[in-house]
Amino acid sequence: MISSEIDYLVRLMSKLPGLGIRSARRIVLHLLNNKEKEMLVLSSEIKQVAELVQFCSICGNMDTKETCYICLDDKRDKSIICVVENVGDLWAIERSSVFGGQYHVLGGVLSALDNIGPKDLKIENLVERAKNKNTKEIILANSATVDGQTTAHYLADQLSECNVLISRLAQGLPIGGELDFLDDGTITQALKARSEV
Ligand SMILES: [Zn+2]
Repeated sequence: MISSEIDYLVRLMSKLPGLGIRSARRIVLHLLNNKEKEMLVLSSEIKQVAELVQFCSICGNMDTKETCYICLDDKRDKSIICVVENVGDLWAIERSSVFGGQYHVLGGVLSALDNIGPKDLKIENLVERAKNKNTKEIILANSATVDGQTTAHYLADQLSECNVLISRLAQGLPIGGELDFLDDGTITQALKARSEV
């Protein structure tokens, strides 16, 4: 038996992605054994980031500032916007270091099953950004899931009136594949061989 406070911590930890009850127990035990150097540092860091983090007012990325580090970076190409479903996908594309443009984070996918409609995603802002005369290309980097592709079709339709090139990632992404799970080489190829919609 372990104390109820520690047991509660283990149960909270076990709900994190990729962790089960066994690995949660191991992590908590490790932290308890390294209280000063790791447990207290980690807990204060989590609290600090949680209090500071916000969504970028332009692209929807997460940062501790109102405008994120990507939107503020003058060296990045302002004429290309890569549309992704979530921040995890943005990180996946950034990891491949093949893309030097801007992003737009939708905040999910259209889904009849989960009752998520266009108003629940950042689509209006995307159309606004596409209408900006500096925007030349919009890359739809939706995942190869059914909902991801439905969303991509909807976006292509909404953007058709804007004077921009609309492209999508090359086929060959695994069906049902989400960007975050792909290796950097696959993402690089999918971006380089993107085709016009
Ligand atoms: Zn941003």
